Amino acid sequence: MVERDLRGRGLADERVLRAMAHVPREDFVPRWMRRSAYADQPLEIGAGQTISQPYVVAATLEAARIAESDRLLDIGTGSGYGAAVASLVAAEVFSVERLRDLARPAERRLARLGYGGVRVRLGDGSVGWPEHAPYDVIIAGAAGPAIPPAWKEQLRDGGRIVAPVGNRLEQRLVRLTRRGSAFDEEFLMDVRYVPLIGEQGHSER
Ligand code: SAH
Repeated sequence: MVERDLRGRGLADERVLRAMAHVPREDFVPRWMRRSAYADQPLEIGAGQTISQPYVVAATLEAARIAESDRLLDIGTGSGYGAAVASLVAAEVFSVERLRDLARPAERRLARLGYGGVRVRLGDGSVGWPEHAPYDVIIAGAAGPAIPPAWKEQLRDGGRIVAPVGNRLEQRLVRLTRRGSAFDEEFLMDVRYVPLIGEQGHSER
């Protein structure tokens, strides 16, 4: 998977590729889906949510330019897969999930698989996780109508946010880099994520 779907499609950050090769995606998907675990596609994980496509997980982490000493905030824990990969690239990972039925199993799964260093919080990640700010990197697996102001406030100077932005159907993955009180924004690719639902995201329908 790493060679074909990641390196083969232009990803080149060796630390991210090594982390992707290391984390068993099959351990993060329901048992009946294990055979599809290494296909480069998003997969259903229950509660109407999905585990992101490997390429998008890797591209997001590469775009975030993570240093070994970085503190990273991950929005939308889901299965915990993205957080597990991130934990092999960053120094500290904080992950927020709004659905209890995903957050608790993800927390247990991460501990069982040896990623107990990832801190999982049940709550609305659209307002970040202020207690542990500032972060060097913020990544999101769910798309809001705009980058939440709370994330910008909780980002260290020089830090990066890589997140999808858009309506419920069409979104763009963007990278914001903080320069003092200004933020450079770059377009990365068109994507399709589940909605970010919360105070600074979309409203619950
Ligand atoms: N990165 C995850 C996939 C995330 S799917 C993985 O690797 O498995 C997106 C997740 O974001 C879903 O679990 C959804 O419940 C969650 N989510 C949506 N809005 C949220 C919010 N405001 N705060 C935290 N999590 C949110």
